[in-house]
Amino acid sequence: MLNLNLKNMKKHLYIVVIIALGLATMAAQPLKDDTEELEEVFKQINEDVLAHSKVYETLGDACRTIGHRLTGSSNGKKAEEYTNALLKSYGFKDVKYQPFQVEAWSRDTVTLAIAPRKSDNFRDVQVVSLAMTPVASKVTAPIVDVGNGLEADFQAKKDQLQGKIALVNIGLLAPIKGPRNLHRSEKTALAMQYGAAGVIFVNTVKGNVLLTGTASVTGSLIEIPAVCISLESGMEIRAWLSQEPNLIAMIDMKNFSRMIKARNVVATLKGDSKKYRDEKIVIGGHLDSWDLAHGALDNGIGSFSILDVARVFKQLNLKTKRTIEFVMFMGEEEGLLGSKAMIERLSKANSLEQVVFMMNLDMANNANGFNASGRDEMVPFFTKVGNVIQKIEPAYKNTVINQAGLHSDHQSFMLEGIPTASPIGSIAPDALGCYHANCDKFDLVKKDELQNTVRYTAMMLYALANAPEIPAKKLDYYSTRDFFIKQNLRKELELGREWRWGQTE
Ligand SMILES: [Zn+2]
Repeated sequence: MLNLNLKNMKKHLYIVVIIALGLATMAAQPLKDDTEELEEVFKQINEDVLAHSKVYETLGDACRTIGHRLTGSSNGKKAEEYTNALLKSYGFKDVKYQPFQVEAWSRDTVTLAIAPRKSDNFRDVQVVSLAMTPVASKVTAPIVDVGNGLEADFQAKKDQLQGKIALVNIGLLAPIKGPRNLHRSEKTALAMQYGAAGVIFVNTVKGNVLLTGTASVTGSLIEIPAVCISLESGMEIRAWLSQEPNLIAMIDMKNFSRMIKARNVVATLKGDSKKYRDEKIVIGGHLDSWDLAHGALDNGIGSFSILDVARVFKQLNLKTKRTIEFVMFMGEEEGLLGSKAMIERLSKANSLEQVVFMMNLDMANNANGFNASGRDEMVPFFTKVGNVIQKIEPAYKNTVINQAGLHSDHQSFMLEGIPTASPIGSIAPDALGCYHANCDKFDLVKKDELQNTVRYTAMMLYALANAPEIPAKKLDYYSTRDFFIKQNLRKELELGREWRWGQTE
């Protein structure tokens, strides 16, 4: 039984009054629900990005002062240092390099000359090597036009291809219904299968555009030379072929394949909740680019948007329950080398379990929604948070798609069963033609479109990092296998030698 003296009585009365008053205030002003809290923060993010975003300026500056950002090159090293310093200037004390060492390809020299058979009258054609082509190769052989280079095209020319050089469109020149286009590496694999001694790819984009990228489906060097010429050169050669069917091509290339050193750059924002801070959200995009231009679109826009999202979090002093890692991956173009290195490092340190979500930004431009990357559980989450974004910015479309794809850094995380997502948006078709090409420069970048990616990504990241629960959980080994089968990605993973689950279903 309570023994209450007067003093105690008074004290209790006092407490009762306070509680009653508190309840009365709460009744008048109901507790904020989580969407109201989000709305307040989103408003701040929106205002900050529209007024103080640095994404356009910093990407422009990097393109001008560094140029391309090829992994393992001195430019690549400069880009790593540039972004490390930038993150520190935004107030991140904990910015680390994650070094890795791998064998990587880079170009040296290449020439292509064409002449009628039994003539020395060679004409030089402007050309670039595709990546993963031989260290040294010199081939002289007749040209056989294989058109779009789909399986049926090769099949139709199968008796003529042995020892010849195949002339193949990178895209589908005459739009055809039915079969989808194949990747340049898959067309190269077909050419090899049909005995070709070399491949000349004709670009699909107008304006003397040359394109690079890997010609290997496996990640290892291929055995024949594969090069790319412009659409215009391709048209000239085809016009010439119609008058002179016996044209000879001479490809002479030298490349490097050597051990290179590169570094991912990682800035950490520690979670402020004891319960959640061991859960990590990785937001990453590849900083590296090909070397023909500046990689402004691929992936300047993605990586520099992440840097600006990081800036916003520091600028507004945003607190998150979960820890966020902002990551600049290197080596993506050569085969997701940086993200693979990160997974390996986490796995060795037994801390892979801490990564609960990965957001990848690769050529993400003018975001207007998110791709849940095949994880159904995330669709309602993105839609709900998107509704809150729409309250701040009605122009935000809140498009939510749910399609798993491969061939960017999220793949390394997806293979571990970690849920991933990406902002989706759009790139003007003309600009898209400069993908991997010698015209991927800063003049393709639009300030307002970049800022859209930054503000909506920052908002979604904040929501993810503070959600009481992230709906999609890490899949175990066999559920990950079933996920890829369901997403129709088994064949593609097998082609890339990434299928880990053996041959039986
Ligand atoms: Zn990319």
